[in-house]
Amino acid sequence: MTKTDVLVIGAGPAGLSAAAYAARAGYDVIAIDQLSPGGQLLLIDEIENYPGLALTNGYKLAEDMEKQATSFGAKIEFSALIGIKKEGEGRFIAQTDSGEIEAKAVIIATGADHRHLGAKGEEENQGRGVSYCATCDGPFFKNKDVIVVGGGDTALTDAIYLAKITRSVTIVHRREEFRAQKALQYKLNGYDNIATKLGHNVVEIISDGRKVTGAKLENGEILNADAVFIFVGIVPNTAPFKSFVALDRNGFIITDGKMETDVKGVFAAGDVRTTPFRQVTTATSDGAIAAHSADEYISNL
Ligand code: NAP
Repeated sequence: MTKTDVLVIGAGPAGLSAAAYAARAGYDVIAIDQLSPGGQLLLIDEIENYPGLALTNGYKLAEDMEKQATSFGAKIEFSALIGIKKEGEGRFIAQTDSGEIEAKAVIIATGADHRHLGAKGEEENQGRGVSYCATCDGPFFKNKDVIVVGGGDTALTDAIYLAKITRSVTIVHRREEFRAQKALQYKLNGYDNIATKLGHNVVEIISDGRKVTGAKLENGEILNADAVFIFVGIVPNTAPFKSFVALDRNGFIITDGKMETDVKGVFAAGDVRTTPFRQVTTATSDGAIAAHSADEYISNL
């Protein structure tokens, strides 16, 4: 069994920040992830609101965060968590697909995934024009017409990204007002090829059997399009933690201001926890606090 001081589960911005802070404080740190380090950063084209960096892209920021964490001695391992248990104060055993890891403290930073809309035709048309990732699939629809479903920050950020590539973007949102930050709403005005359809729900994704041809609204109206990008929120990656720490009714991990969960020695950071604002900045800040609290916990063992 591998032993470490701090086990970080998830290597997105929150996990990489936690790993960097804990390693810099002198602890042995292992951060595991079942995907490449960077988390959702890897899906972001432009980032203009990370303090101190006027404009960068997600991939570059992820790479820099990983380099920084490993430069302090954190080990980043490619493996998936299967289960975790507490055997006593300062003794956690994590079972992964690459073996067991014993840690004195645990920081959960597994982030969140895209929520599905639940519209007819959505599942069967994934990869044929239904997408949950603009930077991954947007370039396939150069000079085509696309629909974006949703009204939050992701919908607007990605609609703007898509507007630069595609011929037209129609944002369909279920309410008359967007949920997204005002700064993003103002930005829409700068794009002549973005139209909005407010107060409507997409009930069906229409295809010709091979690829998406449009979407049907609840009033029967059909919008023609070559792709439908769905950004209707996130679901936390908390499946392995359901009977380990307390979750809120939406499945996010409940923490206090020190990022501590209801289990002593277990901390959560970033999108996976209940928080009013999910940004790269807030995720990295959570990671720093979680690492500091893990330090305090281990020091008092
Ligand atoms: P979100 O803020 O939860 O927004 C989800 C949107 O989808 C809402 O507009 C919601 O409508 C709509 N929606 C939810 N379920 C739906 C359904 N069944 N049918 C139709 N519409 C539905 O999620 P998000 O935009 O993915 O953002 C997640 C977090 O990441 C947020 O904290 C956000 O601030 C952050 N984020 C930040 C940035 C940035 O700063 N640039 C970029 C991306 C994400 P209602 O408004 O009616 O509820």
